[in-house]
Amino acid sequence: MRKPSFGTGPHFGNVNDVNESRSRLSFPSNKIKITPTNSNTRIIVAANAARPASSVPAAEGRTGQNIGLNSERLRALMVERLRQKGITDERVLDAMRSVPRHVFIDQGLASRAYDDAALPIGFSQTISQPWVVSRMLSAVAENRKPQKMLEIGTGCGYQAAVMAAMCHEVYTIERIKPLYEMARGTLRELKLVSRIRLVHGDGMLGMPSVAPFDAIVIAAAGLQIPTALLHQLDIGARLIAPEGSDQQKLVLIERTGVNSWDRKELEPVRFVPLRAGIQL
Ligand code: SAH
Repeated sequence: MRKPSFGTGPHFGNVNDVNESRSRLSFPSNKIKITPTNSNTRIIVAANAARPASSVPAAEGRTGQNIGLNSERLRALMVERLRQKGITDERVLDAMRSVPRHVFIDQGLASRAYDDAALPIGFSQTISQPWVVSRMLSAVAENRKPQKMLEIGTGCGYQAAVMAAMCHEVYTIERIKPLYEMARGTLRELKLVSRIRLVHGDGMLGMPSVAPFDAIVIAAAGLQIPTALLHQLDIGARLIAPEGSDQQKLVLIERTGVNSWDRKELEPVRFVPLRAGIQL
C-alpha cells in the first residue's frame, strides 16, 4: 500500500501567485429545490495505489475488452438515461456522448463504466457519477457559453475531458500527485492536453494568475466554498460545488457584481471531501 505523504503548502507548478486569502464568505441560505438523489456516492476503499500510468488504457478500442467496441452504443444509452433524469442541455449531452469514460478507470471496472455510478479510482477517491457531471455542467453553463472553465479535483480527468468537449480552455487542479499524473497520462493519450491545463496543487486557492473564469466546478465537498474561488469568477459567471460533510448539497453561486454573489441550493449529493494542501 502506498504510504501517503502530505505537503506542507501549496505547490502550483508554473502558477506563481498563490497568496490568495483562505478566509471564507458565507451566504444566506436560499433553498430552491431539494430532491432526493443518488449522486457521487463516496466509495470507501482501502487507500490502494492507483494503477501505474503505463496501464492506462489509451483510447477507445485499446482496452483489450469488448467495452471498447461497444462503448459508443453504451454511451448513447447513458445519454438517454441522463435525458430521462432531466438533463436537457444538448451541449452537455453531446460532450458526455463523446468522452470514453471507460478509458479513465481501471480495466477491472470497465464493464461498469457507463453505469450511472461513481467508481473507485484509487487513493479513496472516485470518478464522478455521470448524472452529477451532467447536472453540474448544465447548471454552470445555463444561458451562457463558457469558454474558460476551472475544475477543482481532477481525479482521473474524466470531467475535465467532458468540459474540454464543451469549451476551448479548461484548467484543472488535483492535490494528489499520482492521480494528477494518471489524469495527465490519460488526457495526453486522448490528445486533450493542449486544451486542458493540469496543475498539481491545492485547488482551494484556485489559479489567480489565470482568473477570471467563465465557470468553476468543484468536484469535492468542503464545509464552505473557498473565498479565493468566488473572487476568481468573472462577473455573471457561475460556480457549482457540493457543500457539507455528512449531509451535502449542491450549491450554485452566481457572481452578480464585484462584491456580490447569489446562492442557490440544489439537490442533496455525496462527494469525497475537499482537503487543503497537497499529497505527494
Ligand atoms: N473530477 C473527477 C472527480 C474526482 S473526485 C472526475 O471526473 O471523476 C474529487 C477529487 O478532488 C479527488 O481526486 C481529490 O483528490 C480532489 N481534491 C480534493 N480536495 C482538493 C483540493 N483542495 N485541490 C485539488 N483537488 C482536490
